[in-house]
Amino acid sequence: MRLQNKTAIVTGSSRGIGAHIAKTLASEGARVVVNYASNQAAADQVVAEIIWNGGEAIAVKADVSKADEVKALFGTTIAQFGKVDWLINNAGIALYKRIQETTDDEFDRSFNINVKGVFLTLREAATRLENGGRVVNFSSSVTRLMMPTYGTYSATKAAVEQLTRVFSKEVGQRGITVNSISPGPTNTELFTEGKSEEVLQRLASMAALGRIGEPEDIAGLVLFLVSDESAWVTAQNLGVNGGFA
Ligand code: NAP
Repeated sequence: MRLQNKTAIVTGSSRGIGAHIAKTLASEGARVVVNYASNQAAADQVVAEIIWNGGEAIAVKADVSKADEVKALFGTTIAQFGKVDWLINNAGIALYKRIQETTDDEFDRSFNINVKGVFLTLREAATRLENGGRVVNFSSSVTRLMMPTYGTYSATKAAVEQLTRVFSKEVGQRGITVNSISPGPTNTELFTEGKSEEVLQRLASMAALGRIGEPEDIAGLVLFLVSDESAWVTAQNLGVNGGFA
């Protein structure tokens, strides 16, 4: 229980990678806010599992692309747990479309959730995160590649990497570290939806370790980045992709 007395907001933790991160942090003693956009039943299930295992968690609905909801997310966390130590900015959506086929709405929605969502949470974190806190933003390994159909999505993640680097300099004086991580293909709905077995196999074979990642592969790096052992790691983007890119 080495994370006792720490409070984490994990955005988008009703499902997928975020759900595993929430459970992993809680299993080490952290109090966790399970944020979600619409899927309350899934968020409640994650909270129930954490509490069943002796941990502390609450579910909080907030669309990260809305300033008032992000403000309320931090407010509820502080009201319930007294402080926020860590912000794990995991919420995100994917878009797999060639640029010529991408609509204005799809482009705006991608940037609103993936980039503005990170911007809004960082803006709150700037004043409301505890000294010595941690921020982990989510990029993607596709920013290291040039894969057709990933134009808009990889552009949102490139923006997240840059927000990460600049924000690290703005809050570093308070001992807060700010990093982004870049998962490779990971076994969640976001990645597998609409992909044939053949495509999944092809993407798996691109990794040095020859498989698709699992959410627990990603949660391990987040655990390291909130731990005391990573205190000198900031302003970095770390790949967690089995050697995919
Ligand atoms: P996922 O399974 O689709 O889960 C997405 C989560 O984000 C859900 O909890 C969802 O909540 C939440 N969410 C979506 N829009 C939101 C909003 N506007 N406000 C708050 N929460 C919102 O996705 P995932 O695969 O776990 O991905 C997590 C992160 O890893 C994303 O940033 C993604 O870009 C990144 N990533 C994933 C992969 C991959 O292969 N899976 C690879 C590289 C990077 P609801 O349940 O309420 O909808």
